[in-house]
Amino acid sequence: MDTGFDVAALRPHLARIRGRRAAMEALIRRWAAINSGSGNRAGLAAMADALAEAFAPLGTPERRPLPAVAAVAADGTVREEATGDLLVLTRRPEAPRRVTLAIHYDTVYGPDHPFRTVREAGADTLVGPGVADAKGGIAVLLHALLALEDSPFAAGIGWRVLLNPDEETGSRASAAAMVEAAAGADFAMLYEPALEDGTMAGARKGSGTFALVARGRAAHAGRDFAAGRNALTALAGAILELDALNGRDDGVTVNVAGVEGGGPVNVVPDLALARFNVRVPTPGDAARVTAALARITAGLNARDGIRAELHGGFGRPPKVADARQQHLQAWVGGLGDALGIPVRWRDTGGCCDGNNLAAAGIPNIDTLGVRGGRIHSDGEFVRLDSLEERATLSAALLMAAGAGAFVPPGAAGDRP
Ligand SMILES: [Zn+2]
Repeated sequence: MDTGFDVAALRPHLARIRGRRAAMEALIRRWAAINSGSGNRAGLAAMADALAEAFAPLGTPERRPLPAVAAVAADGTVREEATGDLLVLTRRPEAPRRVTLAIHYDTVYGPDHPFRTVREAGADTLVGPGVADAKGGIAVLLHALLALEDSPFAAGIGWRVLLNPDEETGSRASAAAMVEAAAGADFAMLYEPALEDGTMAGARKGSGTFALVARGRAAHAGRDFAAGRNALTALAGAILELDALNGRDDGVTVNVAGVEGGGPVNVVPDLALARFNVRVPTPGDAARVTAALARITAGLNARDGIRAELHGGFGRPPKVADARQQHLQAWVGGLGDALGIPVRWRDTGGCCDGNNLAAAGIPNIDTLGVRGGRIHSDGEFVRLDSLEERATLSAALLMAAGAGAFVPPGAAGDRP
């Protein structure tokens, strides 16, 4: 896309990011040493403190408590689970262009996980928990904003940073607060890791996580078998129906991932539950699957002596490549080309907070974080030679938007 904007004006200001690699690496090392697994409230609080300290040059982040969310336990009961705070930092909300920068500070590694230390793997690679997903991204975000604020383009753009504590468990507590806090932004920038070669995510499937609980009636397997109603075998039938939803609609997948229930062999089991995840490319697919799940649950309830409940829902709507999203990607791609940081896109079945922001009408680029890989494993790594490059790309987007170079589709001035 020809943005009609000369990136040469940005170069002297972007040049300041050269030499910041060590500062970003130091932040990543410090943050990766703090365990902030999604369920670790003390660790999340410590991480929030560390973030507030690092962001202090830009202001004091506001800490917004988030609501508890329901979780289905193995015994079928529902309990409330609390999480950490949403950190919010805002500057120039009245500026002509507004952008939301967001990323999570939780990781998939709980306090009991053996992967807890950072180590070097060659000159340009750091291995450690959360170094790419997404603590490296937070460092990139911070340094991009510092560069923007040091530039004359800052006056043209207002920004809001959102750092949430529960993305790795689906942002169930933070999703609504994130969407509300991002309202009014022209676009959003999220700092999930890019692939090792820099490829970023385009369209993303939506995701729903569910628990289907079946209850029957316990009875002695020898004395009174006929009085029993077997929740386990009833649920087994429903599981096969769930699995049969695969292959019907293009790209729709149902992964039955866990089963709990049953017990001693001399008792007809009165409780069983299945946990499953559904991925859908379009909102229409989500509606069709929702109807199918209601049918399967109703089928269970229609059986003699069986009661069934379905918990969960589509917490991540699909992120589709609509016109606004394509417009933003074309603008980012054009700017990347002009900077010598070529941008490639690949659609993915994975989800992130970009799904929810896109569904709320805020187009976004969600993989502006570091280049890295093996995330969610004990080999997670960040490419340290990507830190300055990624901060430069983000700073350039912010500066160019501040200079008026981003024009939303349909806005006055968006004419050839
Ligand atoms: Zn992530």
